[in-house]
Amino acid sequence: MEGCVLITDIARFSVNDGPGFRTNVFLKGCPLRCAWCHNPETISAGPQLYWKRRLCVQCGACLDACPRGAIRPPVSPELGRDPDSPCRKIDRTKCDLCMECVKACRYDALQVVGKPMSASEILDEVERDRPFYDNSGGGMTLSGGEPTAHPAFSRELLAGARERGLHTCLDTNGFCGFEVLEELCGLADIVLFDLKHLDPVRHFEKTGARNEQILDNLMRLSRVHPGIWIRIPVIPDFNDDFAFHRRAAAFIASLGGSVGRVDLLPYHNWCQDKYDWLGTDWAYRDVEALDPSFLELHAGIYRETGLGVTIGGSGFEETQTAHGP
Ligand code: SF4
Ligand code: SF4
Repeated sequence: MEGCVLITDIARFSVNDGPGFRTNVFLKGCPLRCAWCHNPETISAGPQLYWKRRLCVQCGACLDACPRGAIRPPVSPELGRDPDSPCRKIDRTKCDLCMECVKACRYDALQVVGKPMSASEILDEVERDRPFYDNSGGGMTLSGGEPTAHPAFSRELLAGARERGLHTCLDTNGFCGFEVLEELCGLADIVLFDLKHLDPVRHFEKTGARNEQILDNLMRLSRVHPGIWIRIPVIPDFNDDFAFHRRAAAFIASLGGSVGRVDLLPYHNWCQDKYDWLGTDWAYRDVEALDPSFLELHAGIYRETGLGVTIGGSGFEETQTAHGP
């Protein structure tokens, strides 16, 4: 087993990440740097430290516990809780993530992000909801972060799920060697494949990587895997224009019958707290969430091309297929 993969969450009862009720396993670590990322705690593969200002009573116990002098002195609780105040509890340039402050905090205001778990521990947790999977056609969705960044661990987890008779989905950005992708997808009943942009320069500008390998992987995968769902995060001023979606629909339709549907995922900013807890900023802080109804016309482009489509990842009617009803 791969030594030190960390988990940020095991989220139960998802209905947006594959068929039926899903339990989503979020691995830490991703090679892309999407500017709009709504799971910023999964980008780094290592442990991180949350400071939740709303829980902090400014007692000062963490100040005494920190061996690195990385904790700032208490201020008034009112000032500390005010999100517009300049108060930042941790000087992250000094912090070495020893987590002594977490042990000292009695209010859960300081928390470690990233829990080491073995594949069997994760699967035991996932299996708790087996009755719901059986009734809904659900199962486990392996997500992140990026599962292909941890090939050995992801292989063990997906193979273990198969051995236990669990339905499996793999959520991937496709940015890896094809051999890794093909092997892991071979252990997944459905592949949720992210498509962000078709233009390599625009892709690089917002994710830190060009997309040639991703698109090539998708084309190759569509020839060998029978169950691919394309997921497009629709981001304001990046890929929310009709011209992009017309090109994307034509490209996806050209992949053939292995693509079961397209999910348009409207940009949201519900992750704002996570950025604050990590003490980082993001380029989309002041960008308003997209109303899902805004994507009805976009969805129409895919329907006209004969592709089944959802807005948000749920509500797919089985009469929709990749190439029309
Ligand atoms: S120990 Fe916890 S509650 Fe007390 S000042 Fe530190 S973070 Fe805030
Ligand atoms: S993790 Fe360690 S170094 Fe960082 S602030 Fe906490 S006690 Fe200090």
